[in-house]
Amino acid sequence: MIKNFLPTYCFDNIKSIDYDLLEKTGISTLAFDLDYTLISFATKFLDLETISFLDELKKKFKVIIVSNSPKKRLDKVFLGCDISYISRAKKPSTKRFRKVFQDNDNLNTCMIGDQLITDILFGNRLKMKSIYLRRVYKENILMRILNRNVDRFLFLLVRIRYPKRYKEIFGK
Ligand SMILES: [Mg+2]
Repeated sequence: MIKNFLPTYCFDNIKSIDYDLLEKTGISTLAFDLDYTLISFATKFLDLETISFLDELKKKFKVIIVSNSPKKRLDKVFLGCDISYISRAKKPSTKRFRKVFQDNDNLNTCMIGDQLITDILFGNRLKMKSIYLRRVYKENILMRILNRNVDRFLFLLVRIRYPKRYKEIFGK
C-alpha cells in the first residue's frame, strides 16, 4: 500500500522534467494534473509560456490533463487551447479515467502532479509511471493545512518503509 505513494521520478517543475528519458522508456502519453502543476489555484487561464511549452510536448507525446476540478473551470482555463482534459477525475479513483482511456494506454502513460495522495497514488493504481513535482506555486492557507500535512505524513511513511528508494527519488 505505502509503495503506491512512491513516484517513479521527482522533478522541480514541468520544465525540468527529463522528457527524453520518458520517451526512451516508452512513454507516449503525458497526463498532467492542473492545480499547482500547470497553474496556481487562483489562476483562471493558462499563461502563454505554458501553452507553448505544452504545444512543443505535443509534437512528441499525447498530452492530456487529468484534474479533479469541475468541467466549468477547465473549460475556462483551456479556452482557446487545443488540449484534451478529463474534469472531475476524482483522483485517486481510477474509474473516470478508465472510462475515457483504452485498456493499455495506462502502461505508456506518465502521470505528473504535485500531490502524493491524489496524483501519484492515481498513477500507481493504474500502473503508470509517475512524476512528483516539488512545490512550484504558492498555495492558499487551506490547501496548505489540508493537503500538505497529509502529503508530509505520507512522505514520512514512504521514507521509513523504503529509505533507499526514497533517497534515489528525492535525493535526500
Ligand atoms: Mg495539484
